Amino acid sequence: YPVGSKLLVLCTLSSGGLVAYSESQSHIGSPSVDVNQSEPRKKRVVVLGTGWAGTSFLKDLDASAYDVQVVSPRNYFAFTPLLPSVTCGTVEARSIVEPVRNIIKKRKGEVKFWEAECIKIDATNKQVICRSNIDSNLVGNGEFSLEYDYLVVALGAQVNTFNTPGVLEYCHFLKEVEDAQKIRRSVIDCFEKAILPGLSEEERRTNLHFVIVGGGPTGVEFAAELHDFFQEDLVKLYPSVKDLVKITVIQSGDHILNMFDERISSFAEQKFRRDGIEVQTGSRVLSVSDKEITMNVKSKGEVCSIPHGLVVWSTGVSTRPVVRDLMEQIGQGKRHVLATDEWLRVKGCESVYAIGDCTSVDQRKIREDIVAIFAAADKDKNGRLTISEFQDVMGDLIIRYPQVELYLKSQHLGDVTDLLRDSEGNDRVEVDIEQFKLALSHVDSQMKSLPATAQVAAQQGAYLSRCFNRRDECGENPEGPRRFRSGGQHQFLPFRYKHFGQFAPLGGEQAAAELPGDWVSMGHSTQWLWYSVYASKQVSWRTRVLVVSDWTRRFVFGRDSSRI
Ligand code: FAD
Repeated sequence: YPVGSKLLVLCTLSSGGLVAYSESQSHIGSPSVDVNQSEPRKKRVVVLGTGWAGTSFLKDLDASAYDVQVVSPRNYFAFTPLLPSVTCGTVEARSIVEPVRNIIKKRKGEVKFWEAECIKIDATNKQVICRSNIDSNLVGNGEFSLEYDYLVVALGAQVNTFNTPGVLEYCHFLKEVEDAQKIRRSVIDCFEKAILPGLSEEERRTNLHFVIVGGGPTGVEFAAELHDFFQEDLVKLYPSVKDLVKITVIQSGDHILNMFDERISSFAEQKFRRDGIEVQTGSRVLSVSDKEITMNVKSKGEVCSIPHGLVVWSTGVSTRPVVRDLMEQIGQGKRHVLATDEWLRVKGCESVYAIGDCTSVDQRKIREDIVAIFAAADKDKNGRLTISEFQDVMGDLIIRYPQVELYLKSQHLGDVTDLLRDSEGNDRVEVDIEQFKLALSHVDSQMKSLPATAQVAAQQGAYLSRCFNRRDECGENPEGPRRFRSGGQHQFLPFRYKHFGQFAPLGGEQAAAELPGDWVSMGHSTQWLWYSVYASKQVSWRTRVLVVSDWTRRFVFGRDSSRI
């Protein structure tokens, strides 16, 4: 997916953001005074996580205005869209990671980094408890606490096994750099094992059966990478077993890549069919053992088992325990994901912001707000609005909820513009608010949470840092929308996501892409677009050079099949 630094930052700068109300309480307020010091103390900002969201926040933050501390168990940022390429050695693991210290040293002001895991967020006492993951007796049990004035939770998510028996024990995941390295070694192991003397053909086939559970972008890209690795490199090294290799993708839905345009999903299915990759749709995995996968095949209405040599589980993400614990503390225990408002503030928790995969904008809040906006607009109007009042309400709705605009576009503005004209097609002077409400009643059912992608996470991080950087400026001159319930104006504009499209590499130097403006592009030229976008989106020149040289090395010498 075209995820990125500069472009995303620019877009976010133009759309703005909101963190606090200007007239009543300022969430990003003026520095408080430490009793022991004459100098006002800088506000303490603690950032949890150095993934897409956390790094994007840090990259743009003016750290000289705050006392910034960052906690993460990994002291690097990983460019996750290239993880599938690491599984087969198309690019090396070190080429897609950038040390966090390299990123923060470029900041204005000091940023402290602690390589540790946050084990508890204590929202009441405004502190986080962390544990160092470095094995050392020097620091006791390695635990320490950090107090914050503002907390930025950018902890991402963990793999979702849906509690399927055997998944944790027998499946590989593709979430972290270590996972990709482990898969790379295991793929080679499968080939080495399959050619050992004394095995039956059946046993060799089993060893060379690679199963991917989940037909989303990650699963599909891994299947395509593996197919290329086999066709372009391994087939020459293991000729005796070349006819025994099989790749299967198991998908519970009716199509793979079902979050993409239909044309892309059918293009991918056709390509996989031509390549001999089996796509088993409508199948739900019930359990996994060391030898086989058992699944329920909807179309046949039966349960069947298939033997495997290696399984990669790629079926989506769920909430991390430390985030779940925070949700329990603040009354969000029944939700799936940590809810924020449109200014990315965690609901029910003062001074805590959440960005990236660990969060979603609260849909109930959106519904409540739409009702409140209608009620406020309707006050003393007896159910009728002038066209300019109507346009005001619409403008406010769209600023606060970009989904409304997307919905209207998807409806070709049909529902609402119809309201502006009478039955003879003439412009009305007034709008019937009940009719208007009815037309928009479908909007909230169409509103979906933002996808868990790097693109969203990076834009949220950039948005939030902009709010932190502009607190004084926007405190004096609020830029946000009017508040309907209590009057006044919000300090910042709300977060607004801008979609730049997404890619699905399909192997054989072909890719598919959904581009802005409902464009769909597929084939070899799209793969070249993918190369150029991903090279340009690297976080540093160092990783850019490494990734491009890895691609060149692969073109010239092929992939390295050593098991190290
Ligand atoms: P992450 O990037 O997961 O970062 C979470 C951070 O929190 C990490 O630094 C982690 O070490 C840290 N952390 C975890 N636990 C703790 C703790 N207890 N205490 C402190 N820190 C902690 N998205 C796209 O848009 N395009 C793509 O092409 C794409 N491809 C992908 C391919 C793969 C294989 C994967 C796995 C994901 C892909 N994604 C893609 C999704 C994208 O990677 C995520 O949406 C993105 O990483 C979310 O960013 P984040 O910062 O919320 O979480």
